[in-house]
Amino acid sequence: MIDSLPALPTASPLRALLHEVFGYEAFRGPQAEIVEHVSGGGDALVLMPTGGGKSLCYQVPAIARQRAGQGVTLVISPLIALMHDQVGALDEVGVPAAFLNSTQDWEQTEAIERRLLAGQLTLLYAAPERVGTPRFLGLLDTLAAHGQLSLFAIDEAHCVSQWGHDFRPEYRQLTVLHERWPQVPRIALTATADATTRADIVERLQLESARTFISSFDRPNIRYTIVEKKEPTRQLLQFIERQHAGEAGIVYCQSRRRVDELAATLASHGLTALPYHAGLPAEVRRRHQDRFLREEGIVMVATIAFGMGIDKPDVRFVAHVDMPKNIEGYYQETGRAGRDGDASDAWMAYGLQDVVNQRRMIDESPAEEDFKQVMRGKLDALLALAEATDCRRARLLGYFGEHYRGAPESQLDASTPSPGRLKATSAGAGCGNCDNCLAPPEIWDATECARKLLSTVYRVQQQSGISFGAGHIMDILRGKRTEKVVQHGHDELSTFGLGAEFSEAQLRGVLRQLIAVGALQVDAEAYNTLKLLPSARPILRGEQALRLRAASAAAPPRERGRRARSATPPPAVAELDAAGQARFAALKAWRAEVAREHNLPAYVIFHDATLAAIAARAPAAPVELEGISGLGATKLERYGEEVLRVCASA
Ligand code: ADP
Ligand code: ZN
Repeated sequence: MIDSLPALPTASPLRALLHEVFGYEAFRGPQAEIVEHVSGGGDALVLMPTGGGKSLCYQVPAIARQRAGQGVTLVISPLIALMHDQVGALDEVGVPAAFLNSTQDWEQTEAIERRLLAGQLTLLYAAPERVGTPRFLGLLDTLAAHGQLSLFAIDEAHCVSQWGHDFRPEYRQLTVLHERWPQVPRIALTATADATTRADIVERLQLESARTFISSFDRPNIRYTIVEKKEPTRQLLQFIERQHAGEAGIVYCQSRRRVDELAATLASHGLTALPYHAGLPAEVRRRHQDRFLREEGIVMVATIAFGMGIDKPDVRFVAHVDMPKNIEGYYQETGRAGRDGDASDAWMAYGLQDVVNQRRMIDESPAEEDFKQVMRGKLDALLALAEATDCRRARLLGYFGEHYRGAPESQLDASTPSPGRLKATSAGAGCGNCDNCLAPPEIWDATECARKLLSTVYRVQQQSGISFGAGHIMDILRGKRTEKVVQHGHDELSTFGLGAEFSEAQLRGVLRQLIAVGALQVDAEAYNTLKLLPSARPILRGEQALRLRAASAAAPPRERGRRARSATPPPAVAELDAAGQARFAALKAWRAEVAREHNLPAYVIFHDATLAAIAARAPAAPVELEGISGLGATKLERYGEEVLRVCASA
């Protein structure tokens, strides 16, 4: 990850606080500047990738300001289902926090309100819809009147924008916070926002005078792979079994029905796979989410209804068996892999049908035309990423306005096939950790093929006065005398059989890309038939060359298998000697018990990395636990003795 700038001298009391409460040595990247700015009462807009450490950006100022007598921080979060764990994590480090949401009864609510008014809370989490209620506004008024309303933190701030991928209308009413209590500083945070969304967040939340902090959006530990969709279920199974057996992952599908089917199929192949979508009863969803967070090696098969705010650190892969709507969605969803910084995969299978479906969804939506136009532009950018023959990471970051200059030499590890070749194909900007960098795809000149396809579409339309679908066009070109071809006399067209040398996969690939570049349109209102668009003209005339990825790339490059045989332990664990491994195992078993007792996910108690560091030290006395990352004062006090006991008896 982006590693620590030297901490600012003025930030040192905050750094001391970070060390004392969270047990961390230093701030990461822009955290130091952000916490200093916000602790001092400044407004901030923070754009930081998942796993970058956004929570600390408001938690540290919240603690500092509470200690300075400025009262409570209100955290707006759309994630009711996760508030319990978020508050639990703060409780574990000794920071008094609570949440108010619709899952609580009257008595619980009143008890929290009393603690709030008595100044006993450092952070209060609430859903955006709560903020609009008169009762809640009254509470905030009381706090503000006593100078006890310290800070507003607006998490998942992209939810305020309809251009984002998670629009929540309730977020719009958050302007009330600023209008009613202009003196209270605000920090808005998000892990994803392209330029359009970013501008929209600023406008909607009236953050014009806030300082913006933008981190690099690169996630170097995530390996991006996009394969051509053939038999997605089989491809997915192979991907999981070969590279992630026994590991936790998320598989995204477009429809609920597909989620149910795929979860059942994976389960029948021996995987612990659970479905998650908005059509399941709330109780089932909660149970599945809990199991995903609390057990190891669960594969969650889900629609995009799942995942926002999931802070499980060891999700080893995110797979898409259907294409998402846009790059922001793709980035956000794949970003849920590898928060802990260890090697992880983002894998997607993508095909012609995805392009057709996504275009149709936009065309058929009841939205205004200018909205659809933006959506089409966003889809096109994703299609270009999927079709790219160069570095995926460079493309992805480019979309977010970041110029990727290539991985530092040290990052191009030994598994990279011949670095010389890599440099040659990707002009020095290769990341060494995406499919295209690891195994540069073969390119073929598809210009002729594209011309033949386009002119077939044109001739068919001319001759019959109506349009036809992709299958029929390919049949004509490949010279197949199907019933339909003969019936319409299309075997007499001059292009009939002209494309016999192309495989169906090749033709599909070209069609997909012609749709992607806007030369062809799929008419959803007329049985998905193909229509020519103006940008087909230069291709038809032979003025525009089309260089495409050769349709193959089914087998993953050999290096991959070696990198990730099933369940590779993270480096810190792999380095332990036998006795250390035994201590680590004992600590994990102990942690599981504590987590169960506290009804929290294990990683909230201690991360694997913290347990590995303890195991490596073989501590025999309390002082030997000091300075271990993730072991703050409260945890040291609460668990120090037990940790020593577990280590001694392992
Ligand atoms: P985000 O919300 O940006 O996705 P989190 O706030 O969940 O990220 O942080 C990701 C992980 O990194 C967490 O496990 C967190 O404890 C850890 N982390 C964040 N900042 C630091 C830091 N300065 N030092 C060590 N670990 C950190
Ligand atoms: Zn790359």
